[in-house]
Amino acid sequence: MSKDSFVESTETLKKTVPLMIKHKVPTTPTNYALWYTYATQQDPQLNLAIDQGIEALGGLCTPTLCESLYQEHLASETDKDMIQLKQSLTAMMQELSHTMSDTLSNAETFQGALSKTFNKLETGEREGISLEETMTLVRDLIRESRQIQQATGTFKGQLNNAQQEITALREALNESQKEANEDALTQLLNRRAFERDIESYEKNKVPFSLIMLDIDKFKDFNDNYGHLLGDQVLKVVARRLIACCQDYAQPYRFGGEEFVVMLPQKSMPSARQLAETVRRAVEKISVLDKKSGQRINSITASFGVASRQENESCSQVLERADSFLNKAKHLGRNRVLPVN
Ligand code: GH3
Ligand code: MG
Ligand code: MG
Repeated sequence: MSKDSFVESTETLKKTVPLMIKHKVPTTPTNYALWYTYATQQDPQLNLAIDQGIEALGGLCTPTLCESLYQEHLASETDKDMIQLKQSLTAMMQELSHTMSDTLSNAETFQGALSKTFNKLETGEREGISLEETMTLVRDLIRESRQIQQATGTFKGQLNNAQQEITALREALNESQKEANEDALTQLLNRRAFERDIESYEKNKVPFSLIMLDIDKFKDFNDNYGHLLGDQVLKVVARRLIACCQDYAQPYRFGGEEFVVMLPQKSMPSARQLAETVRRAVEKISVLDKKSGQRINSITASFGVASRQENESCSQVLERADSFLNKAKHLGRNRVLPVN
């Protein structure tokens, strides 16, 4: 993030927080996105809708109103907003902690000076002022110092709260971003994450190979043992996939019982080798069906592998892998194509 946009987004966030407090908006990530956008004044229609909605509700912005405004005006922009928001929150956190320590040390110095004066007066180092005047001075000082003490305490409390809230918020944002990219069943990255990643491969012209795999006759597991057993098979396959990929390849759940593995900077031989490793690992899976007491040892998958050629688009590579996968199915499943 450039320095300018860093400063800008911190400024926007500083406006966002009081607005949300004013309209009693719960600090959920989507509400933050909504009010952050409101504060940027980038979308006049959104601002108008919020203003009108709030006016109708007498200054309050209900969760339902926030939700529907968010759905209507921002939902498609979630990705971008979340990233921007995360950066802004980090900036805000840093800013706040600086402000906090600066303010506290200023207040401490001030309090130090005050108590020095106070001591002096108390120990009787006075010239030409009456006892009564001194007493007034002392009383004033005491009052002032108490006020400052109180204000500092309150301020410290406020900052603490704000910081806690922002930490929680940041965690919630991280969590929701994770949820958005993660497949709930297998905990693999999902299709959406794949689309996003492949786009960046395309844009940055990163050479890569990819593997498409599809569990063989998966429907039969569902039909014979039930959907829950099918889910369990998917989970176990995903775990094996993760183990085989280590940290040089990235697996995704592409959909249903189909997976994709991206291998950045890798050529066909390494991709085929990994596919073969995964094929053998899947073949070894054994799942116990608790209901029938039966062991299922017949889980296999078919694989199509492709490598990006120069000037080829990512979808062309994906199509080639997919057609090899289909060929593997037709040739009898449980195999990797092309063979060399
Ligand atoms: P093939 O070897 O040709 O790939 O046969 P198949 O049975 O694996 O393929 P098909 O496309 O006919 O069936 C895939 C099935 O996967 C159909 C669908 O109900 C099931 N499925 C998709 N997603 C899930 C899921 O999340 N859980 C479960 N249990 N089943 C799922
Ligand atoms: Mg399929
Ligand atoms: Mg299948």
